[in-house]
Amino acid sequence: MAVNDLEQNDTFFRALIENSADAIALMSPEGRITYASPATKGCIGYTPEEVVGQNCFAFIHPEDLAAVQLVLAPMLATPGRVVTFEYRFRHKNGNYCWLKGTATNLLSHPAVHAILSNLHNISEQKRDEELLRANEENSRVLLVREQAVLRQEEAAKQHLSNLFMQSPAMICVLNGPELRLELVNDAFRQLYSKREFLPGKTVQENWPDLEGQGFFEKLYQVYQSGIAYVGNEVLAMVDRVDTGVLEPGYFNIVYQPAFDAQGKVNSIIVYVMEVTEQVLARQHIQNGEARLRRLIDANIVGVTFCNLDGRISEANDVFLQMVGYTREDLLAGKIDWAKMTPPEYKELDGRAVRDLRERGAIPRPYEKAYRRKDGTLLSVVVTAAALDEANPNECIAFILDNSMQKELDQSKDDFISMTSHELKTPVTSIKGFTQILLKRFEQRDEADIKRFLSIMDLQLDKLTRLIGDLLDISKVQGGKLVMEQKPFNLDTLISEMIEQMQATTTRQNIKLVGKTNATIIGDRDRVGHVIVNLITNAIKYSPDSSPIIVKIFCAEEQQAVTQIQDFGIGIDPSHQSKLFAQFYRVTDPHKPYPGLGIGLYLSRQIVERHDGKIWVESKKGEGSVFSFSLPLMHEQGKR
Ligand code: ADP
Repeated sequence: MAVNDLEQNDTFFRALIENSADAIALMSPEGRITYASPATKGCIGYTPEEVVGQNCFAFIHPEDLAAVQLVLAPMLATPGRVVTFEYRFRHKNGNYCWLKGTATNLLSHPAVHAILSNLHNISEQKRDEELLRANEENSRVLLVREQAVLRQEEAAKQHLSNLFMQSPAMICVLNGPELRLELVNDAFRQLYSKREFLPGKTVQENWPDLEGQGFFEKLYQVYQSGIAYVGNEVLAMVDRVDTGVLEPGYFNIVYQPAFDAQGKVNSIIVYVMEVTEQVLARQHIQNGEARLRRLIDANIVGVTFCNLDGRISEANDVFLQMVGYTREDLLAGKIDWAKMTPPEYKELDGRAVRDLRERGAIPRPYEKAYRRKDGTLLSVVVTAAALDEANPNECIAFILDNSMQKELDQSKDDFISMTSHELKTPVTSIKGFTQILLKRFEQRDEADIKRFLSIMDLQLDKLTRLIGDLLDISKVQGGKLVMEQKPFNLDTLISEMIEQMQATTTRQNIKLVGKTNATIIGDRDRVGHVIVNLITNAIKYSPDSSPIIVKIFCAEEQQAVTQIQDFGIGIDPSHQSKLFAQFYRVTDPHKPYPGLGIGLYLSRQIVERHDGKIWVESKKGEGSVFSFSLPLMHEQGKR
């Protein structure tokens, strides 16, 4: 190449370098700057003079230094190798700027002997990238947020829809002036189990059963006025199963208007809650209370609310009049049924209290007396029941004034007692004289007279027994039946009684079976009377000549049992439990038997006063077995 050409080339390249927009620098392998092009000023703010002789690594951002050295190392090792990298470089203004550098290893180049560095300030580009990244990040965050909000809204909507559908209250939405059904929830479908609700159809079309009950009119009123309607325990006749049968139900109702953006009503939300059960339960209680109140206020019987200890908390006027106390006495807590009761009735009351505690009621009304405020006695019939099964201490008691009945009973008893006494004296006297006459005529041979006198004697025995029974009855009633307490031999007594009774009949044969060797403590005459009663009945109610068997034996629990068996007319089971009641008789209009219905009653009184038991086993048409048991002497001693 000619010198001229060379010079021209040099000038050409210098001009290229010096006018290049990128800064161009030459550096030693250690980084010292040996040349910097004029563009250095535009790129990093320093003039070429300010940087030549400086080490370029001193300007590099400490965080980028290691990376830069890592990139440069292979380039330094390989002549001709070019590397490109981005790093932060301290600008003359003190801030770091982003440079894109290209370094070429021209160390072995014969004309250069340096690292050629091409620097391009890319701060703006970096900023734009950064901005773009930030923008992208922002949009992403916004998108995520928007999606989350949407999801939340969706969940809230779902939640509302679930609430609406599953609400225990019946809810529906009616739209527009014609009130067309938009939505109806499951609770409505439960009330009308078979109904197909038709969205878009009017309220009348969907609820034809409510026609004529005033509900539609109310809905239209709410739509027009914009004022909500609230109805409590409203009676509605509903066709629950769509069979055309209307049934009553009670409902709490709200018709809530909903408004559009202009404030005009555009729909009605209907809330309905069925309260039929509650209303009926309350009505039931109220009716019950009202009835009870009427009963109490009717003042037919005395009524008290009391507890089992005696305190009377409430009483009606009849009761107060009966016992002679005032309402003020009642309010002051001065009326106490236990304190008003004379001691002889305490046992009966104790039984009643036990029944109330155990069963909540007294099985049968019982007779007792109260001492009035003025000290006089009042005869009453009482019954009571616990007010609350769980708390038997609180009771309602009904008290009937029994004084009239008692007076009547008393006069009847007095009459019987007086008549019996009046009869007894002449009969005893006739009996005495009959026996004298009988003895006298026995010595003579006048059979007829003897026979007649014997008959008279027997009839007089009967009459005497009857009078004795009547007297005993009045004594039982007056609580004055006195029993002797003496030991006696049961077997002997029974033999005597059989002998005595056999003398009265030729038709029946009375047979004794067994023995007890029992000694009983008690009233021998009265136990004898029981045996006579039972044998008399056995004879009377066995019209055919059939035997009568008297069986005696000792049974478990130290009891002597006597059984009188006949093969007579027998007793229907429906009568058996009542036979031992006073004056009870089984009457047969076709075949009447004489009698008063007191024999078995007295027998039971006597046996029970000896701590014994009396019972019957019988079959109609086949005969009866009347039995009684008495405790043996050493058992009685334990009483
Ligand atoms: P009465 O005086 O009527 O016989 P009781 O008190 O002795 O009174 O008996 C009551 C009723 O029991 C009788 O009216 C009778 O119907 C029935 N009765 C008693 N004993 C017998 C019996 N052995 N067989 C059938 N019925 C009997």
